[in-house]
Amino acid sequence: MTAQASHPPTMPQEARPLVDSFGRAITYLRVSVTDRCDLRCTYCMPERMTFLPKPDVLTFEELDAICTAFIARGVRRLRLTGGEPLGRRGLLGFVEGLSRHLRSGALEEMTLTTNGVALARHAEALFAAGVRRVNVSLDTLDPAVFARITRRNKLPEVLAGIEAARAAGLAVKINTVALAQDNADELPRLIQWAHGQGMDITLIEAMPMGDVDADRPEQHLSLKDVRATLTSFWTLTDTDDRTGGPARYVRVRETGGRIGFITPLSHNFCESCNRVRLTCTGMLYTCLGREDRMDLRAVLRAGGGAPAVHAAIDAALAAKPAGHDFRIERLATPASPRQMSVTGG
Ligand code: SAM
Ligand code: SF4
Repeated sequence: MTAQASHPPTMPQEARPLVDSFGRAITYLRVSVTDRCDLRCTYCMPERMTFLPKPDVLTFEELDAICTAFIARGVRRLRLTGGEPLGRRGLLGFVEGLSRHLRSGALEEMTLTTNGVALARHAEALFAAGVRRVNVSLDTLDPAVFARITRRNKLPEVLAGIEAARAAGLAVKINTVALAQDNADELPRLIQWAHGQGMDITLIEAMPMGDVDADRPEQHLSLKDVRATLTSFWTLTDTDDRTGGPARYVRVRETGGRIGFITPLSHNFCESCNRVRLTCTGMLYTCLGREDRMDLRAVLRAGGGAPAVHAAIDAALAAKPAGHDFRIERLATPASPRQMSVTGG
């Protein structure tokens, strides 16, 4: 396992900042804590999804050990995702445990991406554990369309979750996958609704990840076209706001709010990538769209402890690819065999 040559040889490995071979510093870790979910979004998973056997999934102790190793190496922002993170029993205890890194100042921010279904129950505890922002995925405000997209009838729970989160003091950002057949016409209304409550909204192009029952080319909606439509009645101004992520933000003069665009298919954002992803089985993926990975669960369960984990992280980072390989013309076949719920979207 190689050490990064650019660091002083005296600096212990477990404290060296993570910089990949293209000079990108890794300061952001997304962690999928479960592959399970109580919804079945058509672009994310098939109705009859086979979930992983429980022993394959990292325990909270294992997840904590890996997160802690990354934080020691300079990760400043942690996002918990899934599957549905709030669906995993014991998640709040895990979050409370990790909050020691917030209190010590090592971690700047711990956030959560959730479908919102169980958010009303957990919002106050999340705030008490130091979480200040959550992303809630919501593709429509129409109950029938919601039921069609997610194959479940839970829009009221999600709306109640958003309200409870805001009441608890959490900043909420809405994530919306743009879908040609399901919500293309509704996007302006959804944006207006979010901005009306002071929430940012990020539009996401559906990515070809994993086998789903849906027809991807038919569902594909280019955000370039969405932006052109929005521009026909609103004034959009590009901003320099970057959250370290792939979203590019514009401000809408008429609503006063921000829209983020995540366009993996029509725009490549890899040059500024600062992130890596950990699956719930302990696979470290250094790129969402590629198969390069390191099995940190095997490293942990072999008993090598923190030094072995740090060495494995270094080896994975040395091989982080320059960029992903999503192409519109290849939408019919997944660019990655992994569902987003496994890698953590
Ligand atoms: N269950 C949580 C949720 O829905 O927010 C967290 C996990 S989910 C995989 C994270 C995000 O990935 C969601 O905003 C979802 O809409 C998005 N997503 C899932 N599959 C996708 C795909 N194939 N292309 C683009 N976004 C996807
Ligand atoms: Fe579940 Fe999130 Fe995937 Fe929808 S996008 S099925 S809520 S993991």
